[in-house]
Amino acid sequence: MVTPDCDTHDTDQPASTNQTQHPTNQEATVPTAPTSDQPVPAPRTVVVTGANRGIGRAIAERFVANGDRVATLYRGGDLPDGVLGAVADVTDTAAVDAAFTQIEQELGAVEVLVANAGVTRDQLLMRMSDEEFTSVLDVNLTGTFRCVRRASKGMIRQRRGRIVLISSVIGLYGGAGQVNYAASKAALVGMARSITRELGGRGITANVVAPGFIETAMTAQLPQERQDAYKATIPAGRFAQPDEVAAAVQFLASDEAGYISGAVLPVDGGLGMGH
Ligand code: NDP
Repeated sequence: MVTPDCDTHDTDQPASTNQTQHPTNQEATVPTAPTSDQPVPAPRTVVVTGANRGIGRAIAERFVANGDRVATLYRGGDLPDGVLGAVADVTDTAAVDAAFTQIEQELGAVEVLVANAGVTRDQLLMRMSDEEFTSVLDVNLTGTFRCVRRASKGMIRQRRGRIVLISSVIGLYGGAGQVNYAASKAALVGMARSITRELGGRGITANVVAPGFIETAMTAQLPQERQDAYKATIPAGRFAQPDEVAAAVQFLASDEAGYISGAVLPVDGGLGMGH
């Protein structure tokens, strides 16, 4: 059984303090002059949760490169140049709300939300405790809900917005030892589709990106023979780079994707086809 998200991430991090880390490279958030005949799209305020590492970091870097104003809700660590950091744990409603308020005050109304922060705590079904189940749900599902609820306020007011939820191939394919994680990620599909039905008439789209096996520090730690075994089951024959997920996210957040909503876009090299 292929389990791309098989690592256990510790959620015992310092409590939220709602401090703000200012961009270390202000120039990166300022739109530059056009380099071709194409008009430069107006910069938007983009929030990516968990931009301090992994896939979230690659997503934030892409939006910065696009000239957008980028902020993150994060628990600590260093951020890419040009990303405004608001410290918040997504399990803390008050901290999430305060972080969005801070971001809106500093960068303007949020137009794009990428709910990326996520954890795994793998365990066999019979051994999984209530706490192992609910703690994963609290970050991956309820944490996403907290961010979407707060971000949607401004989007409704602006009558435009892009919501991208980072799920996983495991959500629809399943994964042994991942009942908690798969349930949390599958639920994001229902969430995006309900948002679409509720807010689709207000210029807001909500989509899901479902990554497969992405090359991160986590996958690099796997023994070579296990990496080879996983790769053998992926039609593309390789893992993906975080930026390949970021490219899909950027497309769904673009003007060109304005008529795409409630969709699940796999970025998995064909691993989850048909699921
Ligand atoms: P990482 O473990 O590298 O990063 C996870 C990010 O989520 C970190 O920034 C982490 O912050 C943040 N986070 C976790 N819990 C919380 C919390 N309670 N509040 C705020 N932030 C939190 O994972 P990846 O980059 O690999 O994964 C990113 C997303 O992509 C996740 O949702 C994951 O489920 C999904 N995914 C990943 C795949 C892969 O192969 N890597 C495959 C499919 C889906 P901190 O640094 O403080 O822990």
